Amino acid sequence: MSSSGERLWTPWRMRYVVGADREEGCIFCNRLGEEDDVRSLILVRGQRAFVIMNLYPYNTGHVMIVPNAHVASPEDAEPDVMSEMTVLRGPVLRSLRRALSPDGFNLGLNVGAPAGAGVADHLHEHVVPRWQGDANFMPILASTMVMPELIPVTYAKLRAELAAELEPDSRVTNVVIADDRRHVLVDAAGRLPQVESLPSEPVWKAAMRDALARGAIDAELLGWAGDRHAGSARSALLLRASFPSNTVLPSGSHLAPVNELLTGRDAPLLRAALQDRVQPSP
Ligand SMILES: [Zn+2]
Repeated sequence: MSSSGERLWTPWRMRYVVGADREEGCIFCNRLGEEDDVRSLILVRGQRAFVIMNLYPYNTGHVMIVPNAHVASPEDAEPDVMSEMTVLRGPVLRSLRRALSPDGFNLGLNVGAPAGAGVADHLHEHVVPRWQGDANFMPILASTMVMPELIPVTYAKLRAELAAELEPDSRVTNVVIADDRRHVLVDAAGRLPQVESLPSEPVWKAAMRDALARGAIDAELLGWAGDRHAGSARSALLLRASFPSNTVLPSGSHLAPVNELLTGRDAPLLRAALQDRVQPSP
């Protein structure tokens, strides 16, 4: 391996997931055993394998495809486990391409500690998006990347794309909080808007476009607002937006007080999405 190649893979010898060096047991088995996949950064739960984001990514969008079973090496895994890991690769790569527009990828299995596996006893395949020129500054920064995007934002983008890949009929709800943090954007029927993506349009861009079309002056993606558990397909994105004052919004959309929606049909979704992000009306 060339020296630049060595540098390229060196960060993978370090810890990958939060608390790898101060956590009892296997980090992958532990994450899989938890309920809150948004917190654990699990993007997909399959029958035999799952997809999880790396909290200490080598690059934006660094994810891992991991067997559910605690096996150290491909020859220890049942063939259908390896098959499912392979099957997941397509949706993962397509989702990363749509959400983040990378120019390429590094894909890799590091089997055993000498080969660079940070978690040596639970197999995992790295998928690292790459952009033209990104290798130039990586060696300087060593293990700490300057991340151009916050983890919750990347998580929301990827989870929405993967849900669309794996459940093509799934709908995406737009939870758009106004800057006053007391109002939420609703459609003419008083419901949280559903996002319709154009062909090949990233889901998160469709959500931004939807908010602007409904009258927002600007919009910003904050994170995921759908089901916490990645085994479920209910997608929702959380946005923050500014709205003109004293203006009727297009298409009958309007801003509804958060309190009103917290008793309606969208209440469960809204409660989960908002948590501590809004203030109750006086
Ligand atoms: Zn494990």
